[in-house]
Amino acid sequence: MESGRQSNQQVRGASSPSVVVIGAGIAGLAAARALHDAAFQVVLLESRPRIGGRVYTDFSFGFPVDMGASWLHGVCNENPLAPLIGRLGLPLYRTSGDNSVLYDHDLESYALFDKDGQQVPQELVTKVGEAFESILEETEKVREENKEDMSILQAISIVLERRSDLRQEGLAHKVLQWYLCRMEGWFAADANTISLKSWDQEELLSGGHGLMVRGYCSVINTLAKGLDIRRGHRVTKVARLYNGVRVTVENGTTFVADAAVIAVPLGVLKANSIKFEPRLPEWKEAAIAELGIGTENKIALHFGKVFWPNVEFLGVVASTSYACSYFLNLHKATGHPVLVYMPAGQLAHDIEKMSDEAAANFAFMQLKQILPDASEPIQYIVSHWATDANSLGSYSYDTVGKPHDLYERLRIPIDNLFFAGEATSIRFPGTVHGAYSTGVMAAEDCRMRVSERFGELDLFQPAMGDESISVSVPLLISRM
Ligand SMILES: Cc1cc2nc3c(=O)[nH]c(=O)nc-3n(C[C@H](O)[C@H](O)[C@H](O)COP(=O)(O)OP(=O)(O)OC[C@H]3O[C@@H](n4cnc5c(N)ncnc54)[C@H](O)[C@@H]3O)c2cc1C
Repeated sequence: MESGRQSNQQVRGASSPSVVVIGAGIAGLAAARALHDAAFQVVLLESRPRIGGRVYTDFSFGFPVDMGASWLHGVCNENPLAPLIGRLGLPLYRTSGDNSVLYDHDLESYALFDKDGQQVPQELVTKVGEAFESILEETEKVREENKEDMSILQAISIVLERRSDLRQEGLAHKVLQWYLCRMEGWFAADANTISLKSWDQEELLSGGHGLMVRGYCSVINTLAKGLDIRRGHRVTKVARLYNGVRVTVENGTTFVADAAVIAVPLGVLKANSIKFEPRLPEWKEAAIAELGIGTENKIALHFGKVFWPNVEFLGVVASTSYACSYFLNLHKATGHPVLVYMPAGQLAHDIEKMSDEAAANFAFMQLKQILPDASEPIQYIVSHWATDANSLGSYSYDTVGKPHDLYERLRIPIDNLFFAGEATSIRFPGTVHGAYSTGVMAAEDCRMRVSERFGELDLFQPAMGDESISVSVPLLISRM
């Protein structure tokens, strides 16, 4: 099969149940691991030459830089990934505690600058942050008053019309726009597309947000150990058979098994690049079409030396959220002289149209505006999550007028097809731990269904073994 010649592969044998898992991101790996440990014959098909999907640790600077996910959202033992991260002894750098209006970082950790290089006084940053919190609280009233959904941006405008005390002028207005820009970064979408009804329906675990100091890659590699993973295998067709599935990859090779776990990104499902035979039910197709997929990218700039203030984030305020920006200071958490520029929504799409050099230059120009003495980066890495055919977006979010249960509709199995991935997690969408849980859940559903036929309903093992042992391993958390 590696020669590219067409072949037919039976994953299933007579004695043990079999499954094809499609997509070796954290969800697919979690599903494959759990089913492998439950004595299934498992083949994991991955379109890219690498595994991990939207968890991707790049080493081209000579040290790890996460170009996809980099935070563990919810540094607590209830986090489904805590047992694994704890056991691997991976250090976390906490960038915020619970309930920050900026989600994964605290107000105090920022230095904000106007485009003329003037630093915004911290009291103003705090004051406008409090006003932003009040504005968001007031949008709840707008939600209660209106049966029809609207965008969070529209609700904010209604609040500001009503409450002149919350309106901001001049520099304070720019700081408010910057808070909006940060919110857009969290959802990877512009505020005029985010649903007022559902924007706050995701579940936030306690313990704040911790950066994976050494990168997320060891989590991926640990889950992948010992699995039969076929890289460079892009699935084009999934056919449901009587008591089985036939999965076809780009070069014509087919894999036949008792069941399949579909763990490809929502963007890939939206693009219809995988044909389902027979078609998926209408409600499933509708859920795929209606759930939003946002874009956030990273442009990592590696400098010869540190010339910026010793804060976790640098922000650039401006009169529109589109023109605002921010940089994550990796030096604070990792000791490496790297700033990561993170555009989201329309800005991220616009930057993805540029060459990598132009994108890196664009990011550097933002920095130059606030720190005119900034020295040129010596290296850069640019992500392209929206245009990469293997992701076609960064993570899912609730769009205006669509119900929040779309995530659950995406997850619900169809016969012997099981669905996993961040967009199937109604509790923790858009996260690594959410995607991981859906992989474990899909494996459990699959095992229940398929093993019944084999008469083997042994106790199910979670992906990483006995959690009662592993939760006792403490997480290594720091903040410098
Ligand atoms: C820039 C960015 C920052 C983020 N930051 C965070 C963060 O800090 N913390 C956090 O918790 N989450 C974060 N996320 C979200 C997190 O990365 C995702 O929710 C999670 O990794 C998704 O995992 P998944 O397994 O569902 O999908 P993926 O990781 O995308 O895995 C799907 C796999 O399917 C493969 N595939 C695609 N098409 C095919 C095909 N036709 N055939 C076979 N294989 C195919 C892909 O190559 C991929 O490997 C971030 C995401 C991005 C993009």
